[in-house]
Amino acid sequence: MSTLTEITPEILAKYQPVIGLEVHVQLLTASKAFCGCVNQYGGEPNTHVCPTCLGLPGALPVLNRQAVEFAVLAAKAIHCEIRETSVFSRKNYFYPDSPKGYQISQFDKPIAEHGWIDVPDAEGKPKRIGVTRLHMEEDAGKSVHDGFADSVSRTYIDLNRCGTPLVEIVSEPDLRSPDEVFEYLTRLKEILLYTGVSDCNMEEGSLRCDANVSVMLKGAKEFGTKAEVKNVNSFRYIRAAVQYEIERQVGVLEDGGRVVQESRLWNNAEGRTFSMRSKEQAHDYRYFPEPDLPPLVVGAQWQVEILKSLPELPEARRARMIAEYGISAQDAATLTATREFADRFEKAAKKVAANPPAGNQSLATLARTAKSPKRLAAIMLTEVTPRLRVAGLDWKHSPVTTLGLVLAADLAESGDLSSKMLKQLLDICFEKNEDFPAVYEREKPQQISDASAIEKMIDEVIAANPKQVEQYRGGKKTVSAFFVGQVMRLSKGHANPALLNELVVKKLDS
Ligand SMILES: [Zn+2]
Repeated sequence: MSTLTEITPEILAKYQPVIGLEVHVQLLTASKAFCGCVNQYGGEPNTHVCPTCLGLPGALPVLNRQAVEFAVLAAKAIHCEIRETSVFSRKNYFYPDSPKGYQISQFDKPIAEHGWIDVPDAEGKPKRIGVTRLHMEEDAGKSVHDGFADSVSRTYIDLNRCGTPLVEIVSEPDLRSPDEVFEYLTRLKEILLYTGVSDCNMEEGSLRCDANVSVMLKGAKEFGTKAEVKNVNSFRYIRAAVQYEIERQVGVLEDGGRVVQESRLWNNAEGRTFSMRSKEQAHDYRYFPEPDLPPLVVGAQWQVEILKSLPELPEARRARMIAEYGISAQDAATLTATREFADRFEKAAKKVAANPPAGNQSLATLARTAKSPKRLAAIMLTEVTPRLRVAGLDWKHSPVTTLGLVLAADLAESGDLSSKMLKQLLDICFEKNEDFPAVYEREKPQQISDASAIEKMIDEVIAANPKQVEQYRGGKKTVSAFFVGQVMRLSKGHANPALLNELVVKKLDS
């Protein structure tokens, strides 16, 4: 690999990388794909097994209806067409953690094809990446190579994962850079999480990705020979592995060699890929239609039923939230990062805009004066989220509930609560694990809303700062903020901000 140091940006720029991705996604069904065993990560080894997923002679598979519904949902969410009649096939190969000697998969008639996902390109413009197909299959068990006293000489087999329902999502070779790979995977995961068909937990192997990478001289008509980088367990590592692989292949070609078709493994500690096995000859899996399963028919009516549970997807939701709540694109992106977070925001935002719950006097008063989803977004993103992070909590365990968020946003928006006081109250919520309304009622700062008291303080500040008064009266109106700050300090943060603002300008203008 001595050539790598010589790969300059100029040399790299002569080549066009071409990348396609194969993503395996475990479905969150209650039971496995073809038997009644529980579909659950972990567990005592070889306890989630039965004659069917162990591949014992005579045991017959029965297709899990929920797995089909999840596959259809995932496929529709990435704009695939559903094939009404798809066929399961046997993919024959021997591997110790696959006791049947074959995998039930789909081959020439997958359940879905011709989809796409939009990703931002280098300039941030949307670029459409084709999805060739989405097909259903089953997962294999696991070979356990370490953790036992005799692991040096033995490998153990855990078949709990055997028969877990999967979808494999194969992209077109439309990706052109490691960054596009990263974006594609990020979007795909976000979409799948929204549909709820998988938890996409990469550490537990719920989402796994292989990348097919090749390079060709720019302007060439034919793709170069591809190498497959297998089973990298984070998007960042995949981006690094693809970058490494591009440079490695360019190095081979620049040295006058040729790229070998093979599978390679990423070693994160060393930051490089290693040859795993040659793929000089395409595998002969001897596919044939699975004789123990009839063709799968997902008719129009069933499709309609399934699609009733397809939620609004992230891209559409962002656009709608920007329009509906007047929030920034940046805030919308953060708020829609997960469906749960977006739901939480919208639940609170609708409360801000709608009638307050009966009997809550402070809410009843405030809802008339303040309706700012924008303020709510700011409080969620810049006040509560960082406090949750520091406390090591997620939103589910936040001491500040939806109602608390609404009250905080309303008080801040109406000016009844200065940002300093808001921060103090939120700190107390987290210290004492109490919701905002309770803390507010108890610790409610003695806010000074008496105009004459505030005017007295303004007079004091004006008298002490003749230079700034001169600047203001000379036309530099922004200096009023200085006076507001000074009076706020004098009042120890208790002056009513809205009233204070109004009075400062009045005094300075008089
Ligand atoms: Zn089973």
